[in-house]
Amino acid sequence: MLGLRSALAEHFGHDAFRPGQAETIGHLRRGRHTLVVMPTGSGKSLIYQLAALLLPGTTLVISPLIALMKDQVEGLAQRGIPATYINSSLSPAEQAQRLREMERGDWRLVYIAPERLRSVSFRQALQRVRVSLLAVDEAHCISQWGHDFRPDYLRIADARAALAQPLTVALTATAIPEVQDEIVRLLGLPTAARVITGFNRPNIAFEVLKAETRQDKLAALAAALRELREGAAIIYTGKRADAEEVAAHVRGELKRRAAHYHAGLDAETRSRVQDEFIAGKLPIIVATNAFGMGIDRSDVRLVLHYAVPGTLEAYYQEAGRAGRDGAPARALLLYAAQDRGLQEWFIDHDTPSLAELELLRAALARLKDTSSVALSDLVAATRIAEDKVRVGLAQMEAAGLLEHLGDSNGRMALRLRRADARALQAVATATEHWREHRRQQLDKMIAYAEARRCRRRMLLDHFGDKGPADAPSCCDNCARRGKRPLLPIAAASAPPAAVHAPRPGHRATKAEARLIALACIRAIEWSVDVARVVQVLHGSRAQDVIAYRYHENPYYGQLSHLTPGIIGRLLSELVAEGYLEVKGSRALSLPLPHSQGSGRAGRDK
Ligand code: ADP
Repeated sequence: MLGLRSALAEHFGHDAFRPGQAETIGHLRRGRHTLVVMPTGSGKSLIYQLAALLLPGTTLVISPLIALMKDQVEGLAQRGIPATYINSSLSPAEQAQRLREMERGDWRLVYIAPERLRSVSFRQALQRVRVSLLAVDEAHCISQWGHDFRPDYLRIADARAALAQPLTVALTATAIPEVQDEIVRLLGLPTAARVITGFNRPNIAFEVLKAETRQDKLAALAAALRELREGAAIIYTGKRADAEEVAAHVRGELKRRAAHYHAGLDAETRSRVQDEFIAGKLPIIVATNAFGMGIDRSDVRLVLHYAVPGTLEAYYQEAGRAGRDGAPARALLLYAAQDRGLQEWFIDHDTPSLAELELLRAALARLKDTSSVALSDLVAATRIAEDKVRVGLAQMEAAGLLEHLGDSNGRMALRLRRADARALQAVATATEHWREHRRQQLDKMIAYAEARRCRRRMLLDHFGDKGPADAPSCCDNCARRGKRPLLPIAAASAPPAAVHAPRPGHRATKAEARLIALACIRAIEWSVDVARVVQVLHGSRAQDVIAYRYHENPYYGQLSHLTPGIIGRLLSELVAEGYLEVKGSRALSLPLPHSQGSGRAGRDK
């Protein structure tokens, strides 16, 4: 373990592993295939990057994200780690050159896109390479149930066989247990260890409120917003029209600043609203699921769902936008039994009909050049919604009507194949399977809404995270059973009652104080607000410090001899020197980041 830690420090400059990293590398060192499911940003890439350095030979990384490859390779180069990528963004001469270098064993890591596995010259070259680890990134792309399905991922099993079944690690941020099973089955890794971790968000309390009528919903919304004195709220509606009406209600009746956001607004309005929200000028946003990707506002105190979303993944991803600063936040779902109908409508309407697939095929056939196609071109040519176009393309590809040769700068290289009646039939069958799958996902969402048991446990189980479902303020069901009451989120904005915890004895020197501050933050498992760290180090007895058990932090009160101002400056110095990073506006981290799986089904685009 010490060896691993020092390798981590030596190559990457980090002094501790994040949850799941050391465990996975341990499995790999013992030669065990491993499936890793951890949220985006939680440090999955580091797993195969470090493993690559500990194993002999070459690590081959398969990733569909060509743009990210370049970033990763450059990042590794800066750390002196020999890595390269081979993909369609390079000239043929450059590709051939890198292939020769790979054969010579010049590179510890080689990144490729899955379509590279189709290239005969690449497969031949691979035969001469000692591949000691195969890393399959975004492994959920092998699953036909997602919008991210990449038929080329299905070639990986063959490639593994040609390489005599190398040690393999498959990684994804978004795989419910069924998809996990599909990944290990289709990659041929039945005995793979599974490391699934990091999905708990202890500072978010989960609640569901039955609200059958519009009046009930608006009353619940008003009550929730009354509690919101500081920070922001995101209200998710199922329909664009609801986003507009609810925003108008919040402004008109509740007299609060609010704006609506959905995919039907023009690009300029969308980016203005988004910018105002991120900059902290707009406290309340009422939006469809078009809102949220890449939104980095750390002080969202409330995420309220005005209607049930289509999948639990989508719900958790959206709810997870609350409380990125680590302070208490609330995820409240308003549930009316008839909300199911809206989602069923989406299921029936967001997959293309056969007639629409024909339109799409015809539009592709009319294009002179299919080597650089933007989704928006196809949307404009067919007047079919973008989501449907995306699903249609994946299904045509799965049915062999279309080849997807790669992506570059957001444009796709496609090649159309000749169609026969059977292929079209296959598309129709795939559409039916997809709908059936979506209905099952919706059932799970409804089961969550109607559940009487711990909601946090349900969410973690849904992702296969067996870790403890601990949280100071867990969920309405736990509170009802008398366990862990729900705390008002307003506590988060209560002024710190800076009562000192007088501690006799040793007074830390400045150097010690800096170490104590870092250790204190490390002992907190989530990104945490600067003001909160000051409270903990200073030994504040503020209500929420105690409620969230920060007084159990081993470094609680250890800097009680310093004023909060001095502690704050000390933290600023640590940030300036790069020992800490600031996420969002105020949250400090040795971070545990939080975005969840893709949950892309039915996105308003
Ligand atoms: P993922 O692949 O899960 O999206 P990354 O591997 O890109 O996440 O990691 C996200 C960020 O976290 C990167 O900036 C990375 O350097 C950093 N990181 C990863 N592991 C650690 C660690 N053990 N300690 C500190 N930072 C880490």
